[in-house]
Amino acid sequence: MKVLVLGGAGYIGSHTVYELINKNHKVVIIDNLETGYKQAIHKDAKFYEGDLRDKTFLNEVFKKENDIDGIIHFAANSLVGESMENPLKYYDNNLIGTKVLLEAMIENNITKIVFSSTAATYGEPENIPILESDKTEPTNTYGETKLAMEKMFKWVSKAHNLNYVSLRYFNACGAYKDGTIGEAHNPETHLIPIILQVANGTREQINIFGDDYNTKDGTCIRDYIHVSDLADAHILAMEYLLKGGENNTFNLGNGVGFTVKEVIETAKKVTGKDIKAVISERRVGDPAVLVASSQKAKEVLKWNPTRNSLEEIIKSAWKWHSLNPNGFDNN
Ligand code: UDP
Repeated sequence: MKVLVLGGAGYIGSHTVYELINKNHKVVIIDNLETGYKQAIHKDAKFYEGDLRDKTFLNEVFKKENDIDGIIHFAANSLVGESMENPLKYYDNNLIGTKVLLEAMIENNITKIVFSSTAATYGEPENIPILESDKTEPTNTYGETKLAMEKMFKWVSKAHNLNYVSLRYFNACGAYKDGTIGEAHNPETHLIPIILQVANGTREQINIFGDDYNTKDGTCIRDYIHVSDLADAHILAMEYLLKGGENNTFNLGNGVGFTVKEVIETAKKVTGKDIKAVISERRVGDPAVLVASSQKAKEVLKWNPTRNSLEEIIKSAWKWHSLNPNGFDNN
């Protein structure tokens, strides 16, 4: 198949591009390089630099690449903390970007889309593990904009010839097996990269955001899922849509939760380094526990995450961080 990947220079986008190309699919990438990196773009993908909110640009790409089978859409802002400080940035990029994209898809008769959603759509969960049918009440702007994106797809698909799959990721982590691409945000805010930056000496300490949650050691519990397993799920979801699958929403996680302290302990074991950790204030908008049930993705998409031990995940991330202590900046 020929797939247009929006945000293919970003973390999950670039890993999905690598897996698509490994499976001999054709890939076209659009990325504005605001948070993505040129160095993360696979050499066999065709790359257009530009912004989703630019309809003229989108139409030009769609006209040139007129045999696209479907779109995988990662192009969004995705930081909980930043979304609380600058909510309108999130409404603008995540919602206006998607609105313009939908207009261009309709005009160019592109009818299949798989897109990134998030566990943050649930807010404080009512049950653990979380099911797709559970209530969605986001506790931060990021989750709210992703939920609004999901709803935009739902209503637009009722009026137009369009089918979508929404993938609600839990905590994406890890890196490509050979360590050539991995997680690199600037500034970095995610737990595992920050811990590994302490291990590789580019950061002094990790601040643990709160140790007074109602969990076994007081720190937040998350479900960490390898980015290449997420990548596989996107390809399966696109194949599902192309085979006529109906609109659908799937959780993607491992179904196992780890506390922040457990992640730090595992990273110490994997890296053999001492990792300085300091307890600090809770971060606004953080739910105590997020763990997925991914039963539906396993049943419907036949998704089979294989890189699922936390130790293996951190090992793969450590390979990337030790080979590239400054992320993509020195490549
Ligand atoms: N966290 C932390 N210190 C940090 C970054 C994250 O204690 O410097 C915690 C955060 O509160 C959350 C977990 O680690 O409970 C995962 O956070 P991350 O930002 O990686 O992902 P999120 O869960 O926000 O998607």
